[in-house]
Amino acid sequence: MNSPYENAVEQLELVRELLNIPDEIYKRLKTPDRVIEKRIKVLMDDGRTEEFEAFRSQHNNSRGPYKGGIRFHKDVSREEVMALSMWMTWKCAMLDLPLGGGKGGVKVEVVNLSVAELERLSRAYAAEFKEYFGSEIDIPAPDVNTDGRVMAWMLDEIEKIKGIKDPGMFTGKPLELGGSLGRIEATGFGGFIVLDSYLKGIGDFHEGMSVAVQGFGNVGYWFAQKAYEAGYKIVALSDSKGAIYSSSGFDPAQVLAYKNEKGSMKGYFEDGVKVVEMSNEDLLGLDVDILAPAALENSITIQNYNNIKVSYILELANGPTTPDAEERLLEKGVKIVPDVIANAGGVTVSYFEWVQNRTDEIWSLDRVNEMLVKQMKNAVQQLIDVVRDMGLDLRKATYLLAVKKVVEAIENGGGIAKEF
Ligand code: NAD
Repeated sequence: MNSPYENAVEQLELVRELLNIPDEIYKRLKTPDRVIEKRIKVLMDDGRTEEFEAFRSQHNNSRGPYKGGIRFHKDVSREEVMALSMWMTWKCAMLDLPLGGGKGGVKVEVVNLSVAELERLSRAYAAEFKEYFGSEIDIPAPDVNTDGRVMAWMLDEIEKIKGIKDPGMFTGKPLELGGSLGRIEATGFGGFIVLDSYLKGIGDFHEGMSVAVQGFGNVGYWFAQKAYEAGYKIVALSDSKGAIYSSSGFDPAQVLAYKNEKGSMKGYFEDGVKVVEMSNEDLLGLDVDILAPAALENSITIQNYNNIKVSYILELANGPTTPDAEERLLEKGVKIVPDVIANAGGVTVSYFEWVQNRTDEIWSLDRVNEMLVKQMKNAVQQLIDVVRDMGLDLRKATYLLAVKKVVEAIENGGGIAKEF
């Protein structure tokens, strides 16, 4: 199977000719501005020092500072962060945010770490990468297995070393440290706004549409919850341990409460609901209206695309569909709402957080959500217009819009490759 980076380049290639991208600019877009790779040393609870591979990829800053999450996962690699940073560049452009693309990660099996080890790992990462981060240089945020607490440790570490206060250097922070209301739920909520306004915009919405969600973490949960509140039927949910299905639909908040108590969704029951346990592969093959992959890259592939029966795929995860699987799914008539717009709610509220930090303002939740809805709906409308006017599929149309903005920024002299 191709690496996520090879997939990301293949997706960029889709619009190279369409946009007539000059060779020099294409070369720049294809490769991150810089990829920093370090081995970080962490003192473990038993007194040993362990080394972890750590990365930061800064893809492009022609529209503004690099922006993107930090992931802690056993499969993190140089190629993965390169792909994720490229997708961040397109995402920020698609949402008209004055930011570029970055991504970082540590190759680590997080479940094996104590809280104290997790803190030392976070602080060690921040200390190693300190010169590359800053509210006007590169602004990290949470991603898989990282959260507000991890951001707080990292920010504290760099502020202590540098002797400065720069809360806009990290987003997704706890509220007490300058975080924004609405940030935790923003990616899932944004995904819901994209889905709902897209379906309504193309006239294909009907009450009680059924949804299967793969990955019940931050993004999967909040998407499911917002869709449930709006009357969609959440018929299947999964995590890395397996899936649950019920034709009558779940209340995501109840499932989350059960999972938090028991550690998994296994054995979940709800009054009056018949629950079937199944594998993640079975979930992908369900005959439902919408499939929302919200776990990791490469979950819909050439090996399993043929089982997929849905009308819509909403890519809440980054890079869940491989290009070869996508080609076949498009032939089958499946509409794929791409990650670059579907999961951009998180970075949009991260942008609001950054603005609040830089202007010393605190926005109400209503204001954050109102702005989020406006920004996401505007992006969806741009997408619907391009699909209609140019007859493109959704990913090509999204890339056409997003990559064009980055190319124009570069042509206008944007992007300073700062020397470190
Ligand atoms: P998370 O760690 O909170 O949740 C990930 C979930 O996926 C967990 O429930 C985990 O059990 C599940 N999972 C892992 N492997 C799986 C598998 N093989 N099958 C089924 N489920 C599996 O992470 P998150 O923040 O929710 O991120 C999920 C995805 O969304 C990632 O691709 C991430 O890059 C993307 N994303 C996150 C944000 C954000 O703001 N958190 C923003 C944009 C995109």
